[in-house]
Amino acid sequence: MQNKTLPQLDDLYKEIILEHYRNPHGREPLSKVNYQAEGMNPLCGDEVKLTLQLDSENDKKIEKVHIEGHGCSISVASGSMLADILKGKTIAEAKEISKYLKEIMHDKINDTEIDIGDLEALCGVKKFPVRIKCALLPWTTFEEALLGHEHVEIS
Ligand code: ZN
Repeated sequence: MQNKTLPQLDDLYKEIILEHYRNPHGREPLSKVNYQAEGMNPLCGDEVKLTLQLDSENDKKIEKVHIEGHGCSISVASGSMLADILKGKTIAEAKEISKYLKEIMHDKINDTEIDIGDLEALCGVKKFPVRIKCALLPWTTFEEALLGHEHVEIS
C-alpha cells in the first residue's frame, strides 16, 4: 500500500496514525446494516465506505461500525479510530464526538474535555489545512449516513 506523505507531526502521533493505517480496525463484517454511506475526498483521492449496525435492543446505540477506506494514511487512520471510538456509543454521544473533532480541527477549541482516545493523534493535523479534509472524511460520512445520504463528496 502506498503511504502518501504524512505531514510533520510529533513522532508519537505519527506512530499512532501509522499503526492504524497499517492495521485498520472496523473491517469485520456486520450482521445487519442500519445506516450506510460512501464518502469521497477528490482532492486527495480518499474514499471511505461506512456502515453502522445498531443495537438490536436499543436503536439509539451503535453496536458496531464497519469501515473500509482507501487513500492516504490520515483518512484511513481516522476511519479506524472512528470504528474504535463509536462502538458502543449512543448516536447522540457519537454525534457529539464528531462535532467536537470538527471544532478542534477548525481551531474553535483547544482543550480536550472529552476523552477521544487515539483521535488525539489526529488533532495535530489541524496545522495542515489540506489534510483536515482527509481527517474529517470518515466523520462527515458518518454524519451524512445518519441523515440518510448515501453519497458524500467533500470539497
Ligand atoms: Zn487524504
